[in-house]
Amino acid sequence: MDKDQTRQLKRQCVKCGKCQTVCPLFSVRPIEASAARGKMALAEAVTQGHLDESDTYRNYLETCLLCGACEEICPNKVQTLSAMLGARERLVANGRSKSGKKLILENVVGRPRLLDLAMRLGRNFLGLAFRRIPAESGIRRRFPLPLITRDRTLPSLADNFFTDRYKGQVNSGSGPKVGIFPGCMTNYFYPGTAEGIIGLLKKLGASVYVPEGQVCCGMPALTGGAREVVRKLACQNLEAFEKYELDAIVTGCASCGGNLKENYGGLLREAGVEDQRIEEFTSKVFDINEYLFRHRAPDPREGTVQKEEGGKEELIVTYHHPCHLHRVQGVKAEPIALIQSTPGVRYVPMADDQRCCGMGGSFSLEHYDMAKEVNDQKVARIIETGADAVVTSCPACIMHIRDGLSRNQRGDIEVLHLTELLQRYDCEKQEAGKALDSGTRGLKTGTYDAEHRTQNIIRGLKPADKRDYLLLFEI
Ligand code: SF4
Ligand code: SF4
Ligand code: SF4
Repeated sequence: MDKDQTRQLKRQCVKCGKCQTVCPLFSVRPIEASAARGKMALAEAVTQGHLDESDTYRNYLETCLLCGACEEICPNKVQTLSAMLGARERLVANGRSKSGKKLILENVVGRPRLLDLAMRLGRNFLGLAFRRIPAESGIRRRFPLPLITRDRTLPSLADNFFTDRYKGQVNSGSGPKVGIFPGCMTNYFYPGTAEGIIGLLKKLGASVYVPEGQVCCGMPALTGGAREVVRKLACQNLEAFEKYELDAIVTGCASCGGNLKENYGGLLREAGVEDQRIEEFTSKVFDINEYLFRHRAPDPREGTVQKEEGGKEELIVTYHHPCHLHRVQGVKAEPIALIQSTPGVRYVPMADDQRCCGMGGSFSLEHYDMAKEVNDQKVARIIETGADAVVTSCPACIMHIRDGLSRNQRGDIEVLHLTELLQRYDCEKQEAGKALDSGTRGLKTGTYDAEHRTQNIIRGLKPADKRDYLLLFEI
């Protein structure tokens, strides 16, 4: 945040405190610095030189889900999110970021080949450090590990990453050319979601592409204040997708979609890319909910009770709105309409369905205690509905909600991405749908031949990749 921004914020923020009433963190830690009003007052004091950029200041500033609820409710339209991100960027620029964090953002998130290697390596050692928990709902650590607590359920890395299975043109349909941006979490942990997207797009007659050369959208670096890292990744993604001359770019990750639509314009402009190229790229980005809604003409049938063929009970589902989908992209009605138009499924609304699940990207790693408490509120709302499954549209929400349900002994409630629901209930069984989420199932606990597989990876590396591999150990 620079001085001009600070002055403007000071004028705009009337300190009414409305942002506290909706802040999920304020609800579990009711102190001034939890909500936007307090954070901005601190940032203002730093900019004016009344306060140092101390570790305590940094900690308060980074203790935020960036869910956007404060910005949405603010009567004076104070841009709390950009103010907080600006303050984080300043911390990084002044060398005040947490030791190691900047290094990881620049050398792992900012270097796609290294990120990929880290994931391959992690997959090999997974069985040594983690154990599978019942019902194949995820994995838990075997022994103390930094940032991962004993009671946390995590998804397993997939046996086959999505972009290893699909590259370039996937099929040739008579319809539009649609490129898929899976995002890292879907690619490495939930490839079934992106495979579901392929199935659904094929059903619409689209020619589906998985552009080669695409990389992380850069969201973790953006929220970590490393803007130049995101700028570089944005340019790489632009070039990767431009080559295919697509009609649309579709993603099933709410955070990726929000970043590509809302932040890439500014980032690419800063990198000197011409406006026309930027507009052509960003205007083609759609969340899968939006894309399907436009092309499937759903037929809402709220309140009707239908049974699946053969008299089988219908599946009762509720929906959680990911912050980066409903607040950043304004996609709210589409997923509900799609659920309501799915045969064999009954939608039941959830109280506070637009409230953050508590994940907040790396926030949940660094502040799991708070992320867990916010998540418990969400889980209580899910349980109240009596639903068999909770559907959402973001891999990070899926991960965190599954963890919360498991921790609350309600692992029987399924957590599905909307594409999985549609694939299961509304589509013919497609080839793509058969290999859904092999991640957890692929964890060969106890018999894991990690060393052997790691040797294979190293043997197959090019010299430049070997250097990256060694750097990974240094980090
Ligand atoms: S709701 Fe807006 S005006 Fe009110 S205290 Fe929060 S940021 Fe300031
Ligand atoms: S973005 Fe969310 S968590 Fe952060 S201050 Fe605003 S309401 Fe609270
Ligand atoms: S926002 Fe998250 S899931 Fe999306 S590409 Fe970036 S790291 Fe991956």
